[in-house]
Amino acid sequence: MRPLAGRLIHRARGEASAEFLLMRGANVLFSTRMGNGSWVDGTGRHVLLLASLLAMGCAATPGAPEEGEAFGFLPSGTAIWAGGPWPAIQPSEDVDAVIDQLCPQIMKLPRATLQDYGQEYCGALYTVGDGRYYASHPSPLGSREPLGPQRRKACYPPRTVRDARGRATLIADFHSHPWAPSSMSPRDREARNQLWLIRIQFDTRCTIQKLVPHLDEDRPGELFVREGSRWRRIGLILQDDKASGRVTALSDE
Ligand SMILES: [Zn+2]
Repeated sequence: MRPLAGRLIHRARGEASAEFLLMRGANVLFSTRMGNGSWVDGTGRHVLLLASLLAMGCAATPGAPEEGEAFGFLPSGTAIWAGGPWPAIQPSEDVDAVIDQLCPQIMKLPRATLQDYGQEYCGALYTVGDGRYYASHPSPLGSREPLGPQRRKACYPPRTVRDARGRATLIADFHSHPWAPSSMSPRDREARNQLWLIRIQFDTRCTIQKLVPHLDEDRPGELFVREGSRWRRIGLILQDDKASGRVTALSDE
């Protein structure tokens, strides 16, 4: 067994984290993430291997966002923050101009297109009071799941954005799916998982969906797909379906 792909990150304050993929041939055997120095997943053999990788001082993947600078866990340990702005994305007064830049940049990140063995990335769109919209760094942090068919690594949408220029007001989260075609999942649409006014999701073909949940309003949630420079509304989430996120499809509008 040998690691074919991996990423190890060292940070100050005694924190270390690692994210890596173990492969034999085309089979992914194991994937984990370690935080706060504790090895949560994996067998002793994996831990030994990781320890030896750490001792060898493996460098982070060039160009990959790094925990501790671009994103990290909040003290609760189950929610994350993201830094911003992400320099790969040009800010704009037109939020759609920002949204349209996201997918091509995200798909350059490690494992972003690895389908069943892929990695989701989550970020946020926000303002700092200057009339423009910004994108946060994307984060791969999320639930620790062994990888395998249909077990892609999900990411947590940021609860807050840290921007040195001032207080960030979040208006949307965005996330990728590492295959295509892939639209918003039922979990993506459930009311309890909505954080902001808008949710953006895209797949490896850069088909973009927008969910406007209208959670606290007496009107249906709306699901759109990006077509060129317009949003086409493709479904409604009726009042009684908001909890489950069930979509009632619309014929062409
Ligand atoms: Zn999703």
